[in-house]
Amino acid sequence: MASGSYLDEARNAALAFGDSLLGLAKPRLRIGVTGLSRSGKTVFTTALIQNLVEGARLPVLKAAAEGRISRVRLVPQPDPEVPRFPYEAHRAALAGPDRRWPESTRRISELRIEIDYERAAGWFKGPATLTLDIVDYPGEWLLDLALIGQDYAAWSAQAVADARKAHRLGVAGAWLADLALRDPEGAPDELAAEAASDSFKAYLAALRADPEAVAVTPPGRFLMPGDLEGSPALTFAPLDLAPGTVPRAGTLAGLMSERFEAYKRVVVGPFFREHFARLDRQIVLVDALAALDAGPEALADLETALGQALTAFSVGRNSLLSSLFSPRIDRVLFAATKADHVHHTSHDRLARVMAHLVQRAMAKAQGAGATVEAMAFAAIRATREVRIREGRDDLPAIAGVPEAGEVVDGEVFDGRSEAAIFPGELPERPEAIFDHAQAGHWQIRAPRFRPPLVKPDAGGRMAPPPHIRLDRVLEFLIGDRLA
Ligand code: GDP
Repeated sequence: MASGSYLDEARNAALAFGDSLLGLAKPRLRIGVTGLSRSGKTVFTTALIQNLVEGARLPVLKAAAEGRISRVRLVPQPDPEVPRFPYEAHRAALAGPDRRWPESTRRISELRIEIDYERAAGWFKGPATLTLDIVDYPGEWLLDLALIGQDYAAWSAQAVADARKAHRLGVAGAWLADLALRDPEGAPDELAAEAASDSFKAYLAALRADPEAVAVTPPGRFLMPGDLEGSPALTFAPLDLAPGTVPRAGTLAGLMSERFEAYKRVVVGPFFREHFARLDRQIVLVDALAALDAGPEALADLETALGQALTAFSVGRNSLLSSLFSPRIDRVLFAATKADHVHHTSHDRLARVMAHLVQRAMAKAQGAGATVEAMAFAAIRATREVRIREGRDDLPAIAGVPEAGEVVDGEVFDGRSEAAIFPGELPERPEAIFDHAQAGHWQIRAPRFRPPLVKPDAGGRMAPPPHIRLDRVLEFLIGDRLA
């Protein structure tokens, strides 16, 4: 293992050296897009590419506003073992006659674009090309980093304790019943391991089945297996071990413990070394509004998940983790998505809620030398702003077409008619969202809206769908490299 990671480090260093040599001719930037399932990665990645490639108006992206971007094009995806991000299919789904949201991220994928631009000024003034690699991967995989320093017994104890928390009991009941049947000291039976693992995975899936739920229990591949679905490294589960138990070979606990170690070795290590360690910048997407809607427990779960995932950004030198990989990420953006679910009067407040949720993680990542920011945005704006009267009040509301079957105040929508909704407002002080006395007060009641209908402009040209602050996100992620 030690020599393996040493060799990998040497290989990565060689890759980075090669990158930087080539970088003299053609600068490169590798951006990771992550976030838990349904946070908005696919929609964001599609919108980012579409806005750049189709030359949309992006006033806050300086290079675009100053007219210095001459051409942006898709080029062949360079990593043979990583699937290409299916941009064209996603764009077609959004723009097609039935305006569908694209298929969500379930595994890692990547796309390369080249941006021809004019350098702003100074010694290097003149034409240049920036190569941008965009790597989209499930945020659930980042949660696995928490496993590295843990052994099977500690992980098991944590998973069982989490499942026994009052707010989890409903969904955890079936797995906890199965757990009671499994004897850690019993024979290392393959079928028992499989049955226990299936039951545990069903529990994790049930946790996610609630659209607002946030799963914080690793292993991440149990939720998002990618290409590893069904492999032995993914066939294990926690057992109810007595405190202080050391799993012995020849027992069920021993088998589970071996599998747990194999998972770390063949799944977690390679992901961090081969993908994460090569990223230059990272955007972490967070559906903070959905967690707010679900209440303080979901928010606390989200905060824990973010804290776990973000350990990855602050791996310092000489730590256990740095022997596995060393990140070179110099900018991290935490972005609350779907800001079009609230009126613009709440956009800055949403950004502050985002900053509040990640404040500890932000401080750590800053300590490790990265520039960190929090924002709120919508990659695609599916709503417009209206005001509605409720009694004597004139409320800041949003209007859009809810997806067929969405229910608002008892009314079931058909997917065709527009609805004006007062989604609620976010608090002035972000700490208020954790105040149990006010639980429910900050609920944002937005349904899922259909993607917006985009009409051609006077010249018959179709512009990309509207967005909120996507240009701000881009300026943070790539602006300095287009200066
Ligand atoms: P992923 O699992 O992180 O890839 O999430 P997706 O990008 O597939 O987004 C999940 C769902 O969230 C989509 O199907 C949309 O319903 C919704 N969504 C994502 N981004 C936006 C946005 O910018 N605005 C709105 N209104 N909805 C969004």
